[in-house]
Amino acid sequence: MNSFGASLRRRFGGRIQRVSIDAGFTCPNVDGAVARGGCNFCDNRSFSPSRRVRLQQVSEQLDLGMQSVRRRYDRVAGFIAYFQPATNTYAPVDQLREVYQLALGRSDDVVGLAIGTRPDCVPDSVLDLMSELALRHHVSLEFGMQTMHDAGLQWMNRAHSHEHMINAIDRARGRGFECCVHIILGIPGESHEMMMQTADEVARLGFDAIKLHNLYSVKGTPLGEEVLAGTIQMMERDAYVQTVVDFLERMSPETIVERVSGDAPPNYLIEPKWCLEKSALRLEIEQEFQRRGTRQGSRYRPPKVPPCMRPRPADNTPQSIRDQIDTRGRLPVLKMES
Ligand code: SF4
Repeated sequence: MNSFGASLRRRFGGRIQRVSIDAGFTCPNVDGAVARGGCNFCDNRSFSPSRRVRLQQVSEQLDLGMQSVRRRYDRVAGFIAYFQPATNTYAPVDQLREVYQLALGRSDDVVGLAIGTRPDCVPDSVLDLMSELALRHHVSLEFGMQTMHDAGLQWMNRAHSHEHMINAIDRARGRGFECCVHIILGIPGESHEMMMQTADEVARLGFDAIKLHNLYSVKGTPLGEEVLAGTIQMMERDAYVQTVVDFLERMSPETIVERVSGDAPPNYLIEPKWCLEKSALRLEIEQEFQRRGTRQGSRYRPPKVPPCMRPRPADNTPQSIRDQIDTRGRLPVLKMES
């Protein structure tokens, strides 16, 4: 696998660690801009449109995170501020710039940003901002695609379609920042063949990096309730390992593999418990590659139209989301207090 750690080492000459930041964003799938309730696997109870995070708290999170990493590892060459919970491009662009620059300017050791978002929440104004920041820093924009199948997206209550993902990546690719895709394996109703169709679609669309997650359930979510009631089964460990290897064989050898499983804190996770054994799982995946005599990219078929040759489409961001982003001043979407 073209692993994330190795790719960062090549670029920065040492260990780079991510520090997770909660900047107080909410989500258009929670506040009603496109839907309410959020995705069925997401514990979004805290994503209230009225919550406030002070700018100082963003700095404090970064400082505490960096200190904690330094206690764990002897040598750290730098940090990536990872804007992780909620939809981290969902605020007026001026506010986004303010919070991202705050993180980048906090310390010379902050070498870049990773920004998690939805495919329907990246109007051109946000992509322009990413390109601007990427002139001097490593910037990774992480899209929650999850699957190429709209039935699966509907089951999760994502409130966007795969068409939004195609539109977003065709506008975002090749603009100086990294485009990373999040995929969930084990969505109920998706066969192995359907997951491989998603793999081929990821390869066709030409993302720079990928994070693979098993579907897992946590407390306080609609999915968690269904799993506890026994109406939904999570994927078995062996099937997951096989599926990950099948998936990565279809990826380009150039694609950076940032994750091969997802997990949650043990007291919060319902099922499957096996995903807590991250290192063992990774080893099993590597051993399965060895057993087969294959590697990432073994079954990659370059798309007929190279991703860089795909035409750039018109921005299809929903108007209700643009109304929150393409505006001046401060909206209640993100209430930062200096
Ligand atoms: S889009 Fe992301 S933040 Fe919003 S509800 Fe879904 S998983 Fe949660």
